This record gives sequence, C-alpha cells and structure tokens, in this order.
Amino acid sequence: MLATILHKPGDIRCEEVADPKIIHPTDAIIKLSASCICGSDLWPYRGLQTVDGPMHMGHEYCGIVVEVGSEVRTVRPGQFVVGSFCLSDNTCPHCRFGFQSSCVQREFMTGAQAPYARVALADGTLVATAEVPPDELVPDLLAVSDVLGTGWYAADAAEVREGSTVVVVGDGAVGLMGVLAAREMGAERIIAMSRHASRQKLARDFGATDIVVERGEEGVARIKDLTKGVGADSVLECVGTRESFDQALACSRPGGTIGYVGVPHGVTFDGQNLFFGQKRMLGGPAPVRRFLPDLLDRVLKGKIKPGKVFDLQLPLAEVAEGYRAMDERRAIKTLLRV
Ligand SMILES: [Zn+2]
Repeated sequence: MLATILHKPGDIRCEEVADPKIIHPTDAIIKLSASCICGSDLWPYRGLQTVDGPMHMGHEYCGIVVEVGSEVRTVRPGQFVVGSFCLSDNTCPHCRFGFQSSCVQREFMTGAQAPYARVALADGTLVATAEVPPDELVPDLLAVSDVLGTGWYAADAAEVREGSTVVVVGDGAVGLMGVLAAREMGAERIIAMSRHASRQKLARDFGATDIVVERGEEGVARIKDLTKGVGADSVLECVGTRESFDQALACSRPGGTIGYVGVPHGVTFDGQNLFFGQKRMLGGPAPVRRFLPDLLDRVLKGKIKPGKVFDLQLPLAEVAEGYRAMDERRAIKTLLRV
C-alpha cells in the first residue's frame, strides 16, 4: 500500500510500504475512513525532534475493523471504530484512574497516514459505534481521535466549569478545540488569543466570546483588563513554547489552573514564581480514551462539529503539500483522503 514516510526533516513522501499485519493477538487492523496531519507531526518535519531513519507517520484515525487478533474481545470486523493516539490496555491502575495516556503498556500510535493501520491493544484503545456512521460525520469522528480529545483534556485539566472565565493560548487546531470544549463545559467567558483573522472567526464559531490579538506582556495586560485585574480561572496552554507558557502562567489568577497540552520545547519554570503565584498545573499527552465514549456521543447526536477545524482536504498522495501548508500556516489542519 501507499503510506506516508518521513525520511528526514522536510522530506515527506507517500510511497509503497508493506501492508500492516497482526503481530500480537491483541492487535486489530483497520481500514481508515480518513486520516490527517497533526501539529505535533511538524516537530520532526521541522527537524526539532530527532528523525532516526524513515518514520511511518500518522496517529489520528478512525475506520472499519478488517481483522482482529485471537485475544481481541470488544471489537470485531465490520465495526466502525475510533481510537486514541495513545494505545492503552484500559485495565492497569493508571488507566482505571483515568490516565490511559500513562498506561503501563502505553505505546503511541503510528502509521495512520495510510489506507490501513495496525492498532495495538485494540480492546483498551478502540471504541466502536453502534452503527457505521454516515460519511459526512467522518471528519468530526476523526477529530475526536486526537485534536478534539486533546483540546478537551486541556479544558478538563484546567478545571473549566459552569460560569468559568477561560483563556486559550494558541489558535492552532488544538486551541480551537479547547475553545469548543470550554463552551461545552459551560464556560461563561472564553478569551481566545489569536492574531489570524480566519482562526479568530473559527474561534468565535466554536464559542469564543472575546479575541485578544496582543501577545507577551501586552497580551497579559489585555487579559487583566478584560477580567477586571483578576486573571482567568482556567488557562488552556496549547502551544508549548517558553513564551506561551509564560503567557499562560501570567494570565491565570491565584488558585487558577493551567491545562497544558502543547508539548513543551525549551520550557523551564521558576519555583518561587509558581509558589507565590499559586498556580495549579496539569498537562501531558491527553488521555483521549477517557473521553472517547462521551465525545463520540456528542458528535453522533450532532451537538458538536469539531471537523470544521479541517480547512484543507487532500488525497493521501499529496501528503507533502499537506505538511507544507500547515508548516507555512496556510492551513490550520489537513484532512487526508485515503
Ligand atoms: Zn493501562
């Protein structure tokens, strides 16, 4: 089959690879309904993460089960499934505590920018829908696998609740999903920090009540103005740079919580600032598996349309253009037709 391989930074190709096979009895093989490119795929693409030889890319997926290993019990061929980008057994102490992304058997999904993929730990990772959903819901269901699940976790970790004042740092796909999540959780005020007109518009569509275009100290001052000098109850950090973390911490009120889901690169913390600032933090790779049943239900009932975050659709053969468009910020998120 033709699949996506990153050879070295900037060199991404759609090329012939072996079809995936069942390796462990707990594996499943799925035929993808669609795939997509994640903001985190840009780290190795930009050379900011080591690339040791050709890498199979893609960790967001949904599709039809075509084959299962002998020990798989909860999904069967013919079912439509969505899974998390973190593979988990969903039975260990960390999974049962709701942190499937720290499963003792954790693996990260790979090879999903392809027509077929192997999903390890299928029973603990995949959730099947009652029926095969209509094609028009595929982008929304695909979004649940990572980008929505991660934005949702940012809001959950930041303890967004009914009536909260929320700041979302980052107007990438995850930040926009964080806005949607905060609205669903009942936030009263959702301030999106964004400088790009098309992203501001989408943020408003997803539920942002205010847009702040300033960054750094000016951005923090603007947030303080908007919150009568108090700061936000919840801050969603959806970037992962030193500047974005500093901004997130400074926007949070004492006793407020920062949910951080941008993979930190070059970020350090000053202990005394945290101590005297009284900031609470929780982040990491999202335990999407915890949220999957609820999020699938919201999508299938038409309550949320997270698939609107895909503003570019390409056939898999043009995956290189999909990466370029996201790298150059011409696209928020690329859906790949497989
Ligand atoms: Zn586990």
